[in-house]
Amino acid sequence: MLSIMQVGYLATNCYMYGDEESGKLVLIDPGTDNPDLVKWVENSGYKLSAVINTHGHYDHTLGNHLLESYFNVPVMLHPKDHFFMSIDWDNIAPWLETQFVPPQRTTELSPERKINIGKISLGIIHTPGHSPGSVCLIDEKNGILFSGDTLFADGGVGRTDLPKGSAVELKKSLRNLAELSPDLRVLPGHGAESILGVEIRNIFG
Ligand SMILES: [Zn+2]
Ligand SMILES: [Zn+2]
Repeated sequence: MLSIMQVGYLATNCYMYGDEESGKLVLIDPGTDNPDLVKWVENSGYKLSAVINTHGHYDHTLGNHLLESYFNVPVMLHPKDHFFMSIDWDNIAPWLETQFVPPQRTTELSPERKINIGKISLGIIHTPGHSPGSVCLIDEKNGILFSGDTLFADGGVGRTDLPKGSAVELKKSLRNLAELSPDLRVLPGHGAESILGVEIRNIFG
């Protein structure tokens, strides 16, 4: 089960990804703290087992606290992006109509560990550059890559001018993604979906 909702000022793609047999799902990048997010999960009829952040930017993490407190589920984030949970977003993003509340506890996303949702297995690929702890999530069996803000449709790649961004790291990360199956369906953090091979050609020619 795959469902997408665009949320917030930056139209972040928030994904529910679930296993039909077990009725479990994970929610990727809750970019809003609007209570509609809770309704969206509840109306799916699936049981939320974890929240995953592709990286720590507020437009992917604003709803962490809401979901954690309502569903009592872990929030998973790469350790190199933990610092975003305690920086002053209200100062950095004064247009935010809400106050960023960090989750009580985060679980480390590590590339050595897979996330199992029933029969679905999500691998974690560390793709620093847009932020130091950016990751892509890969479901090899079903041919899906959640690319966060590392890779977008139409040749777009993550900006690297935000705190601790690195253009050099981003390029390395994109080279690593180029090693994956070109048929992977790319589901980015913003905008339309694409196919990995198409985007690798768009970037590297
Ligand atoms: Zn971002
Ligand atoms: Zn974003």
